[in-house]
Amino acid sequence: MIDRIPQATAKRLPLYYRILQHLSSSGKKRISSSELSKVVQIDSATIRKDFSYLGALGRKGYGYDVDRLLSFLRETLDQDELTKVMLIGVGNLGTALLKYNFFKNNNTQIVRAYDNDRSKVGREIAGTAIHHLDDMLTDDNSDVPAAILTVPAGAAQSIADKLVLTGISGILNFTPVRLSVPEHIRVHHIDLAVELQALIYFLKNYPLEPNEG
Ligand code: ATP
Repeated sequence: MIDRIPQATAKRLPLYYRILQHLSSSGKKRISSSELSKVVQIDSATIRKDFSYLGALGRKGYGYDVDRLLSFLRETLDQDELTKVMLIGVGNLGTALLKYNFFKNNNTQIVRAYDNDRSKVGREIAGTAIHHLDDMLTDDNSDVPAAILTVPAGAAQSIADKLVLTGISGILNFTPVRLSVPEHIRVHHIDLAVELQALIYFLKNYPLEPNEG
């Protein structure tokens, strides 16, 4: 069992897991850290260090056994345990995320969605029922540790305050707002507009050489 792995490593594990699943299902049995480095765009020294935290040591001249790595990762990521998630804000992005089958690659499932638009409440998207936001505290969300927030910026903080009362542990925040929440709650921020701007900035200012990376 792995006690403590650095946060930076932990953040990369789902990516390794996804890529290795693809490699395994296409019949790949072993892989070297430098080969994997090209696929995931992470330098091979970092990959070796990350895998050593999992207790997976590559063999010189052989590399890593793909299925063994997958089982190490599955154990670390608790892939065998289903984690329930709720989503708040069933607009365009929220709908896309509901339709995206998270369950296929990770053992996570969006069990409930919330919105304050009565024309959406009562409907289902990809098997997930949409409830009114007013019901969030009366629904039993005690076994839902994480929430995806896809509401307009103006509604984000007040909904986060409400989420705190449900006993949530983590929020995946797709709004541009820097949420203020108690210390024990982890917020991961994904601002797609900023990410796209950043990519465009890098393309303009730091174009990659064809043989770099
Ligand atoms: P749409 O085109 O479906 O209205 P959109 O993708 O343009 O959505 P937004 O206006 O950002 O997105 O709204 C996202 C979703 O959040 C919508 O379904 C909206 O009804 C919902 N929403 C807005 N304010 C709140 C709120 N205070 N509580 C809960 N849901 C809200």
